Amino acid sequence: MSRVSLYCVVYAGLMVSLAGCATPHRIASHPDLDSPSPALRFLHMDLTLRLSEADIAAGRLHGSVTHRFRPMPSAGDAPIERVTLDAVDLDIHRVIDADSGTALPYRYDGRKLRISLARPLAVDAAAAIRVDYSAHEHDDILTFVRPDDDHPDRPTVVYTMSEALKARYWAPCWDWPNVRWTSDISITVPRPYAGVSVGAPVGAPTEHADGTRTFRWRLTTPIDPHLLGIAIGEFDVIESSWRGVPIRAYIQPAAEREARWSFRRTRDILEYYTTLLRTEYPFRQFAHVMVQDHFHGGMEHAGFNMIAPSLLTTGPRGHVPDERAQYNYVAHMLAHAWFAGITSYANVREAWLNESFATYLHELWRTQTHGDEMLPHRLNRLARMIARFDNAGDSQGMIPRRLAAPDEIYRYDAGKIYWKGAWTLHMLRSELGDDLFWRCVAAYLAHFRGRAVTTEDLRASFEKTSGRDLRRFFDQWVRRGGTPRLSVALAWDDRRRVATIHVEQTQRVDAANPPFELPIELWFRSGGQWTRRSLRMTAAEQTFEAALHDEPDGFCVDPRATLLALVEVSKPLAMWRVQAEHGPTALARERALNHLRREKDTDAVDICRRAARESGLHFTARAAAVAALAELAPQD
Ligand SMILES: [Zn+2]
Repeated sequence: MSRVSLYCVVYAGLMVSLAGCATPHRIASHPDLDSPSPALRFLHMDLTLRLSEADIAAGRLHGSVTHRFRPMPSAGDAPIERVTLDAVDLDIHRVIDADSGTALPYRYDGRKLRISLARPLAVDAAAAIRVDYSAHEHDDILTFVRPDDDHPDRPTVVYTMSEALKARYWAPCWDWPNVRWTSDISITVPRPYAGVSVGAPVGAPTEHADGTRTFRWRLTTPIDPHLLGIAIGEFDVIESSWRGVPIRAYIQPAAEREARWSFRRTRDILEYYTTLLRTEYPFRQFAHVMVQDHFHGGMEHAGFNMIAPSLLTTGPRGHVPDERAQYNYVAHMLAHAWFAGITSYANVREAWLNESFATYLHELWRTQTHGDEMLPHRLNRLARMIARFDNAGDSQGMIPRRLAAPDEIYRYDAGKIYWKGAWTLHMLRSELGDDLFWRCVAAYLAHFRGRAVTTEDLRASFEKTSGRDLRRFFDQWVRRGGTPRLSVALAWDDRRRVATIHVEQTQRVDAANPPFELPIELWFRSGGQWTRRSLRMTAAEQTFEAALHDEPDGFCVDPRATLLALVEVSKPLAMWRVQAEHGPTALARERALNHLRREKDTDAVDICRRAARESGLHFTARAAAVAALAELAPQD
């Protein structure tokens, strides 16, 4: 596994993984990828964890987990006699009936813990079992960061990673995303360490005579195990609040400036998402927790998110004055409070259901700082990246049939479920319109609150709210692989006053890869005014006509970025110049300025100069103008 951010892909990370995916590799199927049907409904988890200084040095923790459960109504009338928990590479010390204290017989093969109940469990009864165990340091799952000779100042931090299907490496449980439970988690550690977990803290830590302290956390919103986690370290706490919800940042003191800068808009992001999604934040607190060397850069949990301090910056005067921590991590992981915390995928293969929304929301948050024109610019850029891997011969849709391991979903096709997922939601929004789209999202969250979902659930929910048939849309953009490539040529028939637009889908089209059905926006400029025509392409090659009063001097395709496609437009150079100067959107002008640069159109230098100085033009287009000037008139 290359060291790139998978759960919250950063731009640079994606480029690294793209490079590694130049030749698509075949992946074998993983035998245990789809969630089995649970016979039990897990109600509550009591988890007690203890670590001494010696344990931290040795990379181990001691745990005692109690699961309370009752039979699923769907499990039938036969009493339940055995319980099977996922538990990988743990030391199991004993298993007891938590109510009677009776020792229970069990079998453990290093992956599954099979427990025989003291008596058969009737369909209307509940029971609880307790497992005492130890877990051990495990790469990127149960991580122990400690100072060493080469890094004497490195803080000591212990943390977990439960996605995907990894909670089983540090706590025996039904480790599949199709169950949810509440929890009480206590963490006993030596001073000066603190323990953070899911939910909200319960009172002040309990001080013990032996120099240890116990931190208690209670989660009242049921979650599935991928959002379970703990972090242990020596933290300072920055406290604030939003709408009565405590907001905390557990930080290493040396990184306070970076934390204050990088987390400064947390409340604004929560407010923005709450308003946009018309749905309240689901947890009783929110916390950032700083953990060193996080393999993925960060990870969302129920009520707290981990983030690596190396991603944080101190703002314009900092050493890396960028904002990727705010957009790609803080905003992305916060979005998972809704799309993971409230409702989440039922099977790992459908992780696109979470990542598409989280990625789209963090891109939308970016527009809150950089303006609405930022979204088309970003989508245009992402479309080119997606097309690089999404036209490979065996490219599958966003629900891959074959995965080598659960984690593969996050690297699959270089992060397809993130970027193509976000694009797919954007196209759905373009099809439905803003108000209807966000009403569909709110209804989806309300209907599936506290439940695991499939792609069919999402489609059916959107269809119910919108009254539209979305089967073709979901088949084409979610289940099918590939990104359309369009070649568009414009001609003008002066006698008939008609513009003829020939469009050809140039990606592979055959019996197995039928043409896409595509809504295409064409924009014409005549008499100084832009007019829009919307077409629906259903064949591999089609010619459209548009009657116009005057011959257009400007023409562009999809200037608002509403269609995931790579588009090549054949039109006179003069039209590119008009588009660079008068294009209907900043993206249209940016594309034209880039075209003039590539064409080395030295006659366009004045256009580029004016665009570069145009204060009302979005900075992404002005940057394209400056880049064009640098090539066309380097003396400037
Ligand atoms: Zn994510």
